[in-house]
Amino acid sequence: MMTNQDIFQRAQQTIPGGVNSPVRAFKSVGGTPRFITRAEGAHIWDIEGKQYIDYLGSWGPAIVGHAHPEVVKAVQDATLNGLSFGAPTEGEVVLAEKIAELLPSIEQVRLVSSGTEATMSAIRLARGFTGRKKIIKFEGCYHGHSDSLLVKAGSGLLTFGNPSSAGVPAEFVSHTIVLDYNDIDKVKKTFEEVGHDIACIIVEPIAGNMNLVKPVVGFLEGLRELCTAYGALLIFDEVMTGFRAGPKGVQGLTGIKPDLTTLAKVIGGGMPVGAFGGRKEIMQHIAPMGAVYQAGTLSGNPISVAAGLKTLEILSRPGFYEKLTSATEALITGLKEKAAKHHIAFSADSVGGMFGIYFRSSIPTRFAEVHESNITAFNTFFHAMLDEGVHLAPSAFEAGFVSACHDNEVLNKTFEAADKAFAKVA
Ligand code: PLP
Repeated sequence: MMTNQDIFQRAQQTIPGGVNSPVRAFKSVGGTPRFITRAEGAHIWDIEGKQYIDYLGSWGPAIVGHAHPEVVKAVQDATLNGLSFGAPTEGEVVLAEKIAELLPSIEQVRLVSSGTEATMSAIRLARGFTGRKKIIKFEGCYHGHSDSLLVKAGSGLLTFGNPSSAGVPAEFVSHTIVLDYNDIDKVKKTFEEVGHDIACIIVEPIAGNMNLVKPVVGFLEGLRELCTAYGALLIFDEVMTGFRAGPKGVQGLTGIKPDLTTLAKVIGGGMPVGAFGGRKEIMQHIAPMGAVYQAGTLSGNPISVAAGLKTLEILSRPGFYEKLTSATEALITGLKEKAAKHHIAFSADSVGGMFGIYFRSSIPTRFAEVHESNITAFNTFFHAMLDEGVHLAPSAFEAGFVSACHDNEVLNKTFEAADKAFAKVA
């Protein structure tokens, strides 16, 4: 039988680091990544045939559970008509209409193929619309791997401790201002100094790339006020939180209306997709209507659109989010109980179907606090959980994801595993 170790070693011969996205390599937790052969509902199986309860959820998209029969059927049906046309389809129109209906801040939306493309294009649009150069982002927020956004980003970059990336010339990021998440005074001060040069603020309205960090009261409200006052655009990067934190994303939870929103993950139902949208007056600046160029061979791919539409339909059924939210809350409550039993400094937080676990006694609100977590304890816990058949995100700086298939039986098995895993940490 081929082992994970065998295939990982082989992978490293022809794929850098053996993986096609860095955080998959288990670099921060050590050990061997699991090579997955199959996924169904709340479970994944590796190449050795071992089953795991899955809290990766494909890093967010798998909200209705893996291989949901209706999503699989929608994809199968779509493939029979051809895989890609490079010409418009009715499905794209329906998906755009659905997104605009669900997120009132969006009047027009363009589909792309990844979250990175969505944020990169939204930034270009904000610069084109305002005629300004500077952008503000926050330390620990990750907005994909485009050059101007790879400054003090979260996700894999946090995991590896890189403040930025080699290969990004300093000039490319010289217009990117990086501030502390949840520090509205610094944002105010920055606007007082250079406010009329700022094209936009891009923010994860609930951050999921430095573990889970929620905005403090007044932070998002303050960003909205400042952008309005200075004529800058507010971009909510809801690639992770869109249709995951709640039925209308964080903008629905807070009532704060961004000028532009970026989406991906859930709206593709597990297929490659991304989107950016906002007010018509802004979106009209994109080619072919306007002078801001943006394009894609596979943009609005019919198979991705079919998976996304079916996923959004399932999410809109009565009780979906109530069930998802209570399962996620039950998960963190159960984990906290087990940690307390073993006297571990531990806290946890959740919103909708995403959660954060922190090996520290209180929930962090700032990037620096996330870093004060006991990373060694997390790594021990991660591997003990993996041994017990529970696959968490392989880093102390990532959020976790629950699906509609994480029922009581799955949660109870998770708690049994956690009981043993916390015992090893203690
Ligand atoms: N923005 C946020 C908030 C994300 O979480 C991610 C990916 O995790 C991205 C952008 C980039 O999306 P993608 O990996 O699809 O390029």
